[in-house]
Amino acid sequence: MHRERIPELEHHTTDILQTRRHLHRHPELSNQEHETAAYLASRLASWDIPLRTGIAGTGVVALIEGQAGPGPTVAIRGDMDALPIHEERQHGYVSTRPGVMHACGHDAHMTMALFAGRILHQRRATLRGCVKILFQPSEEASPSGAEAMVRAGALADPPVDAVLGIHVFPYLPSRAIGVRPGVATAAADEFEILVHGRGGHAGYPHLAVDPIVAAAHVILALQTIASRRIRPNDPVVVTVGTVDGGTKANIIPPTVRLRGTFRTQNPQVREQVAEEIDRIAQGVANSHGATAEVTIHWGCPSVINDPPLTEAFVRAGQRLLGEGAVQILPEALMGADDFAFYQQHIPGVYFRLGTGNAEKGTELPLHHPRFDIDEDAMPIGVAMLVEATEEFLRTLAPVSAPAA
Ligand SMILES: [Zn+2]
Ligand SMILES: [Zn+2]
Repeated sequence: MHRERIPELEHHTTDILQTRRHLHRHPELSNQEHETAAYLASRLASWDIPLRTGIAGTGVVALIEGQAGPGPTVAIRGDMDALPIHEERQHGYVSTRPGVMHACGHDAHMTMALFAGRILHQRRATLRGCVKILFQPSEEASPSGAEAMVRAGALADPPVDAVLGIHVFPYLPSRAIGVRPGVATAAADEFEILVHGRGGHAGYPHLAVDPIVAAAHVILALQTIASRRIRPNDPVVVTVGTVDGGTKANIIPPTVRLRGTFRTQNPQVREQVAEEIDRIAQGVANSHGATAEVTIHWGCPSVINDPPLTEAFVRAGQRLLGEGAVQILPEALMGADDFAFYQQHIPGVYFRLGTGNAEKGTELPLHHPRFDIDEDAMPIGVAMLVEATEEFLRTLAPVSAPAA
């Protein structure tokens, strides 16, 4: 890393480590991030960074106003919630809450956003425009904390022009930076199908309408969406995750409930899959004399990175880390992130910070009970947030009118 670009980091390295470990030891579940919010607020206040709390519940928004003149506003997102996973690792900063763990790296995201804010605040005399830090609840749960933050006005006053998001990534070597212009993650949505038949005695099936047999055919037919209905180049997953029906071996139940999830990477395909689920469920159920009631629970859209801002991000990365240091990821992932909700309102870039290091055992997948990050990557993440934010401020600045 070209250290001369972010000389402030030198003084903060130990604090960054300790902050992340404090957050890791005190994880809180989605929408319950009360202590986390209080901690972040106290850190920001101790540095005289103006902040607001109680945004969309436990959200915290910090505002850094540049003093070198008016300009655009760039936001950095840090997600706050942990997962209902019992941490299985033994180290000095293991979770103090049984059954709750920062297994998705949100402790590191908050830490890096916090220190990027700290450094940008220290640089405010030379900043044109504003920087907002959005500490957001409930990334892991539905309803989405990002959506709630937008509704609560986090992107207004001053209006935010671009948003930057970071996610640790064990599948990239530690300290690598990866980004992808355009679609970067899948949209993740859910469905529920109630297959209604007519209950009866298991010995007299001809007097009943068996929803279990109908539901079995619906489950199989749903698999033809990916194999027969969607263009093979468009990734699609349709998974039935639960089948609920019946109480006893000799009773035909009146109803079976199926619940599942579908993931897509193309907004048109997303609509089409929802229509196909409805059409197939109804048609197949009807062919058995049953009916189907389909509900689509729209979840999180795809993260779609703004191409010009992604170019600006790559420029910033090259300046900071050297030519070719930012990897353009070859494909979008089937994972999802509610960062996508900000991008439905303003352009943004969501990038990945490599944290995988086999020697430290940090190559395990996200959401694993022994997940951990290579903490040496965090200063790179902070530096990248600072450098990209400054690059976005320059890129988005209106071309000043020529002097009269
Ligand atoms: Zn996660
Ligand atoms: Zn995550």
